[in-house]
Amino acid sequence: MTSHIMPTYGRLPVTFERGEGAWLFDENSNRYLDALSGIAVCSLGHAHPTVHKAICEQSKKLLHTSNLYKIPAQEQLADRLVNKSGMDNVFFCNSGAEANEAAIKLARKYGYERGIEKPEIIVMEKSFHGRTLATLSATGNTKVQKGFAPLVEGFIRVPYNDIRAIESAVKQNKNVVAVLVEPIQGEGGINIPAPDYLNNLRDLCDEHDLLMMLDEIQTGVGRTGKFLAFQHNDILPDVCTMAKALGNGVPIGACLARGKAAELLTAGAHGSTFGGNPLACSAALAVIAVLDEDNLIEQAEQKGNAICSGFTEKLQKNTHIVDIRHKGLMIGIELDKPCTDLVKLALQHHLLINVTNETTIRLLPPLIIDKQQINMLIDILSTLINEFTQ
Ligand SMILES: *Cc1c(COP(=O)(O)O)cnc(C)c1O
Repeated sequence: MTSHIMPTYGRLPVTFERGEGAWLFDENSNRYLDALSGIAVCSLGHAHPTVHKAICEQSKKLLHTSNLYKIPAQEQLADRLVNKSGMDNVFFCNSGAEANEAAIKLARKYGYERGIEKPEIIVMEKSFHGRTLATLSATGNTKVQKGFAPLVEGFIRVPYNDIRAIESAVKQNKNVVAVLVEPIQGEGGINIPAPDYLNNLRDLCDEHDLLMMLDEIQTGVGRTGKFLAFQHNDILPDVCTMAKALGNGVPIGACLARGKAAELLTAGAHGSTFGGNPLACSAALAVIAVLDEDNLIEQAEQKGNAICSGFTEKLQKNTHIVDIRHKGLMIGIELDKPCTDLVKLALQHHLLINVTNETTIRLLPPLIIDKQQINMLIDILSTLINEFTQ
């Protein structure tokens, strides 16, 4: 049968029918180990009973009203997010790109209020911020931008993990109002900056009155061993965006702001029909409750360490391994050659992984992955890597 879906994705030859925790099952009930979580979305695994219950209960009452009215679940979720992050308030939307759009608008408003007519936002090489026009313009990947000119103006690009580069861009351009950066670059290849990068960025932003805006869409919701990755650095950004794992599969995005940044978007300045609707918010509230009750964020750190020491041991003799790096359960295994073919090979062995930036195997297993599954992941994938590089 011909597909009537626009071919925006090269799809793998598999279809899943149901899931349970870290397992997915295809139409013939074959079992697959999910070490990708739908790209950092299903962090609590598939068909989590608490999320299931929350969305069933909510759907019996209300799915949607409108942001014209007060929404109790949205108020509660904003409370929980503010509490867990140290930020001041939240704008809800439906995806990562939309959360970043809100952040970009907020930065422009910040400039506008300071009399800057052409505000500029510093963004990074190899970054990924989404597929809408503004977010693809902010993204540091020409493949994402190709064919969509004219791009949105107002972005200055510098190398990642280079605080001096940001500093000199700020000094050369007095229209800079904000810096938008991922605490760890996900799509760009699991690039982990120097431990004090965000601290230095915080200082620099304070010194020049810039908004420090963190894209935590992939790193957030416990993935790196803290609720938000910036919490490893004991700092607070001015703006922080979330999405992916926040609803464990129910679409929801959030733009969190603090201090002066929290007061910029006022009535009529921004909006979203679906943003923060009762269904999405009840799912996210359930996600946060489970993370807390089951101590999953702390475990993400331990499990990530276990996975990486496992791979380090099994791959120690393999000279094609450039680096094995991770923070919590955000894991990259970089090879010295393109390895996208490993995704299909792993699929044949009923293991779901991803390769990003051509040469880096990306693992984003669910936070609920257990010891046995961790051992399976290490055994299957290290064998495949060793065969592949031979
Ligand atoms: C996935 C991702 C986005 C885009 O999120 P969508 O929900 O696909 O719009 C933005 N930034 C980062 C860091 C991401 O990983």
